[in-house]
Amino acid sequence: MLPPLIQPVARCDIAIIGAGMAGASLAAEIGGDANVLLIEAEAQPGYHSTGRSAAFWSETYGGPAVQPLTSASGDWLRRSGFLGPRGALHLAAPGGGAALDRLAAEFAGRGIRLERMGRASIASILPGIRRGFDDALAEPSCSDIDVAALHAHYLGAARRAGGRLICDARVIGIERAGPGWRLSTTAGQVEASVIVNSAGAWATEIAALAGAMPIAITPYRRTVVQLLVEPAAPAELPLVIDAAGRYYFKPEAGGRIWLSPHDETPAIASDIAPDDYDVALAIDRLEQVVDWKIVKREKAWAGLRSFSPDRAPVYGPDCQAPGFFWFAGQGGFGIQTAPAAAMIGAAILLARELPSAVSSIDIDRYGPSRFQTKYSGCFPNRRIT
Ligand SMILES: Cc1cc2nc3c(=O)[nH]c(=O)nc-3n(C[C@H](O)[C@H](O)[C@H](O)COP(=O)(O)OP(=O)(O)OC[C@H]3O[C@@H](n4cnc5c(N)ncnc54)[C@H](O)[C@@H]3O)c2cc1C
Repeated sequence: MLPPLIQPVARCDIAIIGAGMAGASLAAEIGGDANVLLIEAEAQPGYHSTGRSAAFWSETYGGPAVQPLTSASGDWLRRSGFLGPRGALHLAAPGGGAALDRLAAEFAGRGIRLERMGRASIASILPGIRRGFDDALAEPSCSDIDVAALHAHYLGAARRAGGRLICDARVIGIERAGPGWRLSTTAGQVEASVIVNSAGAWATEIAALAGAMPIAITPYRRTVVQLLVEPAAPAELPLVIDAAGRYYFKPEAGGRIWLSPHDETPAIASDIAPDDYDVALAIDRLEQVVDWKIVKREKAWAGLRSFSPDRAPVYGPDCQAPGFFWFAGQGGFGIQTAPAAAMIGAAILLARELPSAVSSIDIDRYGPSRFQTKYSGCFPNRRIT
């Protein structure tokens, strides 16, 4: 048996479980204001959802409940060089313009530029578009995100502020130790005053270990396939999203595309793999939209998008387990919302003022207390004990 990596017991103020985008960004935002330990089950942080995303930032993606977080993240992401120009085209199927009307209505008055486009404009940016696709909404602000660089930035910032990361350390037990917690991990024991649940698809399991609220954070499989197509996809192609949510695709280097059937299959938390059916479905849907030849299916992958019951994220102190903090349910938007989410999470954890970038956001709408049923004594979303 290998000796435990943490000997005899690691102590910290805040133990963050999961070093994906959520845990890493929160650790960085806490900075030197607390002694932070990031605990990651895998050998590499970012192995699960964070390393499998489609890498875009879109203010409409995730719906109106998520938009304030995405919009508030945009300035910092752009200024820091993590966003690149892309644009999105919400494309209606023939006769499906009502979906565009609904999208425009949902985001009216939120300061997001959405422009209706007709056949000629669509055809000029989407070569090979089939007949009948005559109606679209352009979302020019949609951008690519450099996910790996953003994640590395947060891990580096956390490390420079004195935070520690241990990998290959799966949390397998959580118990009370005085006013704080003792965590058993596969690498040894950790004692912490506060634990943060940023375990992505495993968030409900972590809550159960700690006796926290049983909020059902449900993982759903999402598939992406990389295709070599002919003619080569133009590098300036926007992200093309079906207005009815049946596919999206965006260009990748060398004239390739990343294509998803927008699948959302309930799954159990695991190292999820793509299903051939979803890949075939994606290709079939693409072929209904453009007349491109598929030269090669190069690779496919799947990841888990984990949603709370109302599909908004959960940030804040647990209602029944003092010192247990939720930072979960990042669904399909955990990269594009990471800066704002981390600012909010750190402000609540450290009882700091909200930074101006997020000060107008109603943070209580993301608190765990909205799922409180039979429990009582839930604290307002301002403090952790
Ligand atoms: C195909 C796909 C496309 C996507 N596209 C986009 C996009 O374009 N834009 C966007 O913003 N979002 C996108 N998302 C969503 C985004 O990837 C997620 O919201 C985000 O990565 C969630 O980050 P996380 O840190 O919560 O989860 P994860 O990255 O999964 O991290 C959770 C970590 O917790 C660790 N962990 C779990 N249990 C334990 C334990 N017991 N002990 C220790 N560690 C543990 C795991 O090993 C994991 O590393 C996409 C997701 C998928 C799957």
